Amino acid sequence: MFPLKLLQRLKPVLPPSGHTGFRSLTGHVVRQSDDTLVKMDNPYREPQKGCLLCSIQVDYKNVQLLSQFVSPHTGRIYGRHITGLCGRKQKEVSKAIKRAHAMGFMSVTHKHPQFMRDPNVCGVKHIN
Ligand SMILES: [Zn+2]
Repeated sequence: MFPLKLLQRLKPVLPPSGHTGFRSLTGHVVRQSDDTLVKMDNPYREPQKGCLLCSIQVDYKNVQLLSQFVSPHTGRIYGRHITGLCGRKQKEVSKAIKRAHAMGFMSVTHKHPQFMRDPNVCGVKHIN
């Protein structure tokens, strides 16, 4: 006969009675997470309108901003397919870069070393 004392000692080790989890097809017991409300973002929210710079005024004196749309090796202005800007802002940026070149704020042949560690806005991968 199974001693009652041993069963009482085993009871804390056993999981508490009641439905604690689901038994999946593979045989593993999947614990159900607690039923707390999870905040989810609005699925009906409209997608963001405009590009990265649509809300920003492009200025030819803002060399740090303009240098993010320039190749660090050749100094060439990235195209629209790389920058992802809308046509209006791409034109503004390229005009501002050209003006900054003419005014002597920006180098024509390379990106300023001070701005090399800036965040990669265009998502271009460079070989280091
Ligand atoms: Zn835009």
